[in-house]
Amino acid sequence: MVDVDRARLLQAVPTELFIGGKWVSSRSGETFAVVDPASEELLLRVADAGPTDGIAALDAAVDAAADWAATPPQARADVLRAAYDALIERREEIAALITLEMGKPLAEARGEVGYGAGFFRWFSESATRLHLDGGYGVEPGGQYRIVTTKRPVGPTLLVTPWNFPLAMGTRKIGAALAAGCTVVIKPAEQTPLTTLLLAEVLREAGLPDGVVNVVTTTDAAGLVRPVMADPRLRKISFTGSTRVGKLLLGQAADHVLRSSMELGGNAPLLVFDDADVDTAVEGAVVAKLRNGGESCVAANRIHVQSGVVEEFTRKLTERMASFRPGPGLDPASTLGPLIDDRQRTKVAGLVDDAVAKGAELLLGGEVPTGKGYFYPPTVLRGVPHDAELRTEEIFGPVAAIYPFDTEDEAIAAANDTPFGLASYLFSQNLSRAMRVAEALDSGMTGINRGVISNPAAPFGGIKESGLGREGSSHGIEEYLETKYIGLGL
Ligand code: NAD
Repeated sequence: MVDVDRARLLQAVPTELFIGGKWVSSRSGETFAVVDPASEELLLRVADAGPTDGIAALDAAVDAAADWAATPPQARADVLRAAYDALIERREEIAALITLEMGKPLAEARGEVGYGAGFFRWFSESATRLHLDGGYGVEPGGQYRIVTTKRPVGPTLLVTPWNFPLAMGTRKIGAALAAGCTVVIKPAEQTPLTTLLLAEVLREAGLPDGVVNVVTTTDAAGLVRPVMADPRLRKISFTGSTRVGKLLLGQAADHVLRSSMELGGNAPLLVFDDADVDTAVEGAVVAKLRNGGESCVAANRIHVQSGVVEEFTRKLTERMASFRPGPGLDPASTLGPLIDDRQRTKVAGLVDDAVAKGAELLLGGEVPTGKGYFYPPTVLRGVPHDAELRTEEIFGPVAAIYPFDTEDEAIAAANDTPFGLASYLFSQNLSRAMRVAEALDSGMTGINRGVISNPAAPFGGIKESGLGREGSSHGIEEYLETKYIGLGL
């Protein structure tokens, strides 16, 4: 195990709600347990907020909204930059906390701190530039001037999932703060600790009271519904399952609330005969096993052309067999546990269903005994059409390989899903690579790469994978309204 002073690390984590710049207990005084998925041991108990706490957090965000919107962009940028510097300086501590509550190997958690903090740096740089993009021009009849400018949307609710406890928060908070919006953030109940520590980092970086408020709860639906029903809220940004996203879009309709939705995926990964097979194997391994497969951009269906399918399958199985499941704080572990028993039961169920219907199991597939929600790297081929694995988002370390013969067949198979978040393709033929990338119905495509997330790139999906983009200049637009002024001279 890496020598982490667990007690000291956890002692630094606030366990109350962060409302109006103060740490406060929930109205009910209730708390809930946060558990280490590698050991099933209690880490900390944190405040369990109810609907009145949610409204109190919204009150604070509303009270702070006008001042924050009027704060000079440079001052907003300076807070984000200071928070970026603090996250990088405290990288080891924050990475260990991510590993403790979410399970991923420490090396990957360090990567998440770099990636997550990167959104604060990116958006601190954007904050001072975005108001320079307005327009000033003569209307076609020459009678007056058309002036366009941007203004912050206003108080925003952010709801985040457990798989990237830091980055899912910073990706939203960074854009909102740079744009001049105040926020209430509700992290996932499995991983609230990183967000609570992040609030403390922001406070120390000079963030004014009420600009970011954090509510932790086991009753997400009960807390979110009244906040969304309150007309003072001006926007919802949600990352999570398509099922909950649809529910929230229904609730957003009542007030025509601006909505950004980063939802589920079912990413295809295509390997053509003209690919460099070793590059494709490495790309598939990282697209599959990064974050233990618990990523919305994880390769869910691996389609391989017949000429290389044997070689690819053998090499992928060998590489996946080299991964070592174990607690993330152990440097020997290269695959952490799944987040909880429910997720593990779901993954195991998908594999069992596929095997029962005739799929061939080449690696893994057995739930280990002992503590922790571990599931081994697993490879399947010959998964039949009626297996749930083909259509469900796996969210686990399970690779399913599907052979194909022609390019058209591969594109049709890749697009045969209601989702459209990420896709990947491997080919050394530039014309084919670009042709196929353009034909794939997804918001993002990696060519000869298994990792594509970057603060400078627009992250998001089409079809049932969501609405809007995060990161890049597109990400900040989600928190801005365009204002037009007709100016008579
Ligand atoms: P989830 O939808 O169950 O939960 C996400 C968040 O929504 C959590 O904070 C949860 O507490 C909250 N929530 C749950 N029910 C709610 C309700 N009725 N009202 C309001 N809030 C509610 O999803 P999850 O299990 O946390 O995450 C896994 C899913 O998230 C996967 O489907 C994955 O693809 C998706 N995801 C998408 C992205 C992306 O950027 N597109 C990133 C990460 C995860």
